[in-house]
Amino acid sequence: MPAASQRAHAPAAPIDTLPDMTPTIDLLETLRSGLTVEGPRRHIVIIGAGIAGLTAGMLLKEAGHTVSILEARNRLGGRIYTYRGFAGKMYGEFGAMRFPRQHRLAQHLIHDRFKLATEPFGMEDQDTFVYLQGRGMRRSEFTGAAFETGLGPDERAKEPTKLLHDVMAPLIELAGQPGGWDKIIAQFDRYSLLGYLLERGVTEQALWLLGPLFNIEGRFHFSLVEWFAHWYDDVFGDLEYIVDGADTLPGAFAPILMNDTRLGAEVQSIDQQADGVSVRFRDATGGRGEVRGDEVIVTVPLVLLRHMEISGLDVDKWFTIRNVYYGRAHKIFMQFSRRWWVEDYAIDHGVTVTDLAIRNVVYTPAGQDASMEKGVLIASYAWEQDSMAYSMLDEQQRVAQALEDLAKIHPEAAETFEFGVSYDWALDRHGGGIGPLFRPYEMTGRFFDDIRRPVGRVWFAGDSCSRLERRWIEGAIGSAVQTAYAIDAGMRNELPDIQLVEQHPAPS
Ligand SMILES: Cc1cc2nc3c(=O)[nH]c(=O)nc-3n(C[C@H](O)[C@H](O)[C@H](O)COP(=O)(O)OP(=O)(O)OC[C@H]3O[C@@H](n4cnc5c(N)ncnc54)[C@H](O)[C@@H]3O)c2cc1C
Repeated sequence: MPAASQRAHAPAAPIDTLPDMTPTIDLLETLRSGLTVEGPRRHIVIIGAGIAGLTAGMLLKEAGHTVSILEARNRLGGRIYTYRGFAGKMYGEFGAMRFPRQHRLAQHLIHDRFKLATEPFGMEDQDTFVYLQGRGMRRSEFTGAAFETGLGPDERAKEPTKLLHDVMAPLIELAGQPGGWDKIIAQFDRYSLLGYLLERGVTEQALWLLGPLFNIEGRFHFSLVEWFAHWYDDVFGDLEYIVDGADTLPGAFAPILMNDTRLGAEVQSIDQQADGVSVRFRDATGGRGEVRGDEVIVTVPLVLLRHMEISGLDVDKWFTIRNVYYGRAHKIFMQFSRRWWVEDYAIDHGVTVTDLAIRNVVYTPAGQDASMEKGVLIASYAWEQDSMAYSMLDEQQRVAQALEDLAKIHPEAAETFEFGVSYDWALDRHGGGIGPLFRPYEMTGRFFDDIRRPVGRVWFAGDSCSRLERRWIEGAIGSAVQTAYAIDAGMRNELPDIQLVEQHPAPS
């Protein structure tokens, strides 16, 4: 992972003296030990009570600052959202549901700080299916030659996993070198995944197979490096879920921050002045309010800032805000009268991949109630254009079409179906999509530095402010720690550099 280089921009409204040296911090150590810098305690307004806002709020409050959190929804957690409308104790994670064990900041909060019980969230089960061209087969039986793809003899002879591994060899080699991630970003940021695969000689026939198999079809036109970082890190290899539901993680902040949080407060404008900030909001009844503070941290997904007025931001900052891309995604959960996937297929975790509209069926270990015969699964989890195909349907149509697809693979679904419920993040007024996705050229240069660059008294945190853990809870927490540190230390228009541990192991 590259060093977090910061550009020192001219302040929009110079207020304090710029520090003459940028400190370097260890994010985990700062999260674990808290903020330690002595200095004037201030009033910090935080917009958004997702994991970034909550983490920043907790750190700053525990360091003696006054915090006021304004949250548009009537709940904490933002894109961590647990649906609890199923029978018994069953639940469905509409948002985040899997926590990689290598995400040390999230692990610290879950295990050390809040002591939440977890269980493994396995992603690979050889009993799940690959369903393509109207025909399904167990993963244990699957080979690249199993479907009629028109692959040439070389590609046909290789296992698809090996094919992908060989194509990625130049990046894998660099990743193992000291400073390798800097080099990868410098050399490969210009590539989309598709552009790279084609340039390396992967045929269109092979793309047809690799796309659904590795879930990369929706990622073809996005950043090669971002996808590679997740794949290389095997970020889906060792996951866990929070037994009582992911929402118990934001819920664990409530005893610390609930008195400082105003729910149902949709922020509409931020006015920066020489001696502070004014944040104006509208509440659920249409009433208006204002909070004044010394600094404001914006953790709202950037795409939503187009609906907010913020004074004092420069043109570069607005350019970035306008250009950060947020992806689409939906999940369709279904409740069944019995867990036929376990009883009839011996599947209790993992994912079936398909070329049907549902794309991915997730046999979620999270959210089951062992005391019941009933069960829940994710009949469809899909991104980008696959999700768009569902966005245009109404709720009833989504569930009906997903059930029809699911029954092609598992006929038992039709007889045991009780009800279904979908959540489309692209249509969430306060979500702005599943999260940020890099496109080619966006990790390097000014673009990324401008995303997280604070401007005067306005600070930015959230998952879009992390380079390699974007769209992960880990990235949101890390950016919050970095920002809280900077405010506490009296920094202005810059953030501390991050001391990095080696987060990217060599490939196995
Ligand atoms: C479907 C899905 C699956 C995911 N899966 C995983 C996973 O398995 N593991 C993982 O680590 N990550 C996952 N993520 C990503 C993870 O949920 C996010 O990276 C993380 O929760 C982002 O936190 P945040 O605080 O940056 O943003 P958010 O959670 O979006 O918080 C921003 C807050 O700002 C509020 N807000 C918006 N507008 C306003 C306004 N005008 N005024 C006041 N408040 C406002 C929002 O309501 C929200 O509460 C997933 C996300 C989705 C959607």
